Amino acid sequence: MKTIIIDPGHGGSDPGATYKGNEEKTLNLLTALKVRDYLKEHYQVTILMTRSENKTMSLSERTNFANTTNADFYLSIHHNAGGGSGFESYTFNGNVPSITLSYQSMIHNDYISAIKKKHTVIDRGKKRANFHVLRETKMPALLVEILFIDNDRDLALLSNTVFMNDAARFLAEGVAKSLSLPEKSGIPGGKLFKVIAGSFTGRKNAEERVTELKQKSYNAFITPEVISGKTYYRVQAGAFADRENAENRVAELKRKSFDAFIVAEGSGNETPPPPTTAPPPLKDVTILGESLLKPHQLNEFVRTVNPSAPLLGDYYFKYGNEYGIRGDIACAQAIHETNYFRFTGQVKPDQNNFAGLGTTGPGVDGASFKTPEEGVLAHIQHLFAYASNERLPESYPLLDPRFSLVSRGSARYWTGLNGKWAVPGTTYGQSILNVYSRNLNHALEEMERQKKIIQSRIDLLK
Ligand SMILES: [Zn+2]
Repeated sequence: MKTIIIDPGHGGSDPGATYKGNEEKTLNLLTALKVRDYLKEHYQVTILMTRSENKTMSLSERTNFANTTNADFYLSIHHNAGGGSGFESYTFNGNVPSITLSYQSMIHNDYISAIKKKHTVIDRGKKRANFHVLRETKMPALLVEILFIDNDRDLALLSNTVFMNDAARFLAEGVAKSLSLPEKSGIPGGKLFKVIAGSFTGRKNAEERVTELKQKSYNAFITPEVISGKTYYRVQAGAFADRENAENRVAELKRKSFDAFIVAEGSGNETPPPPTTAPPPLKDVTILGESLLKPHQLNEFVRTVNPSAPLLGDYYFKYGNEYGIRGDIACAQAIHETNYFRFTGQVKPDQNNFAGLGTTGPGVDGASFKTPEEGVLAHIQHLFAYASNERLPESYPLLDPRFSLVSRGSARYWTGLNGKWAVPGTTYGQSILNVYSRNLNHALEEMERQKKIIQSRIDLLK
C-alpha cells in the first residue's frame, strides 16, 4: 500500500498569513484534514500527517519526520497572500526526478480543470522554488497554494463549505490518480455499486466505448451480462462500496458526455440494464449533486405544458450548483408543487413560493418572497437543510424561514422527503422524479430533433 504525507503549513505559534481575523494555519489544516479523509474513504492508502492539530512545528521537524518514513509522496498545503488571486503549485527548483514533475503536472491540471467547472479560480501556473519542504524531502514533494487569504474574492470562496469540500476533493482525486491509488471497493458481504458507462448488444460497440474511456484515463472493461436470454456487453468504469461515490462517478462521466448508470450488486435483486440511450434509473436519486439538465432544457419543458410559466431554469441551475443541490430536480419539485406554475393549490403566484414552504395546513398561506429569484434560492436552501449536515454556504443570505426547523441531513434522497416535506405522503419523491423523468425525455427528444436538423444541413453541404 502506498503512503502519502500530508503537511498542513504553519501551525501553533506560527499563523502563516493573516487577514481580517483569518489565519492561514487554520485553513491549511482544515483542507489537509478533508484531503486525508477523502483519500482514506475512497482509496487504499496510508496517510501520515505532519500535524493534525494546531501545533507549532519547524520546517526541519516536518522533513526529518517525512524522511524517517518510506512515503511515496509529500503534499504540503498552504494558502497564499501578498496581492494576487488563484491557485499555484510548486516543486523544488533544483534537481528533481522526472516523476516529481509529472505528479505536479497531473495534480495541478486535474485540480484546475475540475475546480474551474464549479468556481471562479485563476490558474497561476506550475512553479518551481527553493522551499525547505520541497528541497529536504527525499520523496517526490509538491506544495500547493490554494487561494489568497488576503484577497476578498478568494476569501469568500474559502468561507464557503462547498468550495472547501471541492478544493479538498479535487486535490485528493488528483493525488489518487497520479499515484494510481487503488479504489476501495467491495466491503465483504456488502453491496457493490458498479458504474456502467454504456450497455451494448454488440461487442464491437462496447470495445469502442472502452477505448474512449481509456483515452480519458478511466480503467474500463467489458462485463457481459445475460438478461432474459439476451447478452448485453456492459462497460464498467468504476465500482464503489458507497452509492454516493458511484453517483459522483456517473456525474463526472456525464460531464464528459458518456451515458452512465449504476448497477447495485450483492443485494440479491439485480435490476436489468436500461438501453444505452435511456435516462438514468430514477430509484433513489440523491438530492445533492450536479444538474444534468441545462437551464434552457428546464424552461422549454415547463413551457410545453404551461406556455406562460415563469422561466426559472437559470435560477434553479445557478443556485442548485452553488449549494451542491440537483437544481434540475428541484425545478421538477417546483413543477409538481405548483402544477406547472399554474398555482392551482393553496399558494398564489405573487408569493414566489414554488415549493410550498410553510404551507402547513388549510388556511396557512405559507411564505412569500420578494422576487422569483429569491423564491428559488429559499427553495434550494430548504433542500440543503434536508440533504446536508454542512454549514450553510455564506455566499447568500438565509431566506428560507423554515431552515432551522429541519432536522439536518434527514433526507439524502428525493424519496426521503416523503412524509417530511409533504405530510402525509408516501409517493411525494416519486412524483418529483416522474416529472424529472418527463423533463429528461423531453430534452432527449429535443436533442434528437436538433441532431436531425444538423445532419440535414451537413448533407446539404456535401
Ligand atoms: Zn504558508
